[in-house]
Amino acid sequence: LFAGETEFLKGVVAMNGLPPADRVEICFAGRSNVGKSSLINALTGRKGLARASNTPGRTQEINFFTAGDIYVVDLPGYGFANAPVAVVEKWQRLLKQYLSGRQTLRRVFVLIDARHGAKAVDEEIMSLLDKSAVTFQVVMTKTDKVKGAALEESLTRTRAALAKHPAAFPELLLTSSEKAEGIPTLRAIIAGIS
Ligand code: GDP
Repeated sequence: LFAGETEFLKGVVAMNGLPPADRVEICFAGRSNVGKSSLINALTGRKGLARASNTPGRTQEINFFTAGDIYVVDLPGYGFANAPVAVVEKWQRLLKQYLSGRQTLRRVFVLIDARHGAKAVDEEIMSLLDKSAVTFQVVMTKTDKVKGAALEESLTRTRAALAKHPAAFPELLLTSSEKAEGIPTLRAIIAGIS
């Protein structure tokens, strides 16, 4: 599915820039620094690939990658601390249009840091996904950084948040890009979608 054949296609800034909806599409979303680039790189086995999405200027774009016969879409990390209001509004408009209008978008993986659990901004994107009727699945990242009761607490909080969202898969996926944990499982899930 992925290895050796994942390429950055384009950064999209407006609906008319979307590539043709001619194949299965999956999407990754999450707060800045959640570990999204690391996860996409671990999944595709290609270091540095998703860096493209983190470079200045690409942070308000919907970034498309071709991965075998599907599109992998990297949504910029939400929470633009210093962005002007107009920029944020333009981005939110594009995001809403994309999520509600993309027939081939099969699933969004919402990444959440295992140390912190679901936060208000994560719940905002979940609500938007509910409204857009896009199925989503939560992937906990950086599980190597938290253990025991602290991890359980964060998972419990995240599950409670998910229960409020009809578009959510109830099951959480636990991953660590650092330790390559949960990556084969996630890869298999993606293979099952496509
Ligand atoms: P992004 O902004 O969501 O794309 O986040 P990055 O993938 O760039 O990761 C942000 C920081 O978290 C970097 O310093 C990564 O090395 C670190 N990081 C990402 N994934 C993991 C992980 O699974 N375990 C640990 N310990 N650190 C991670």
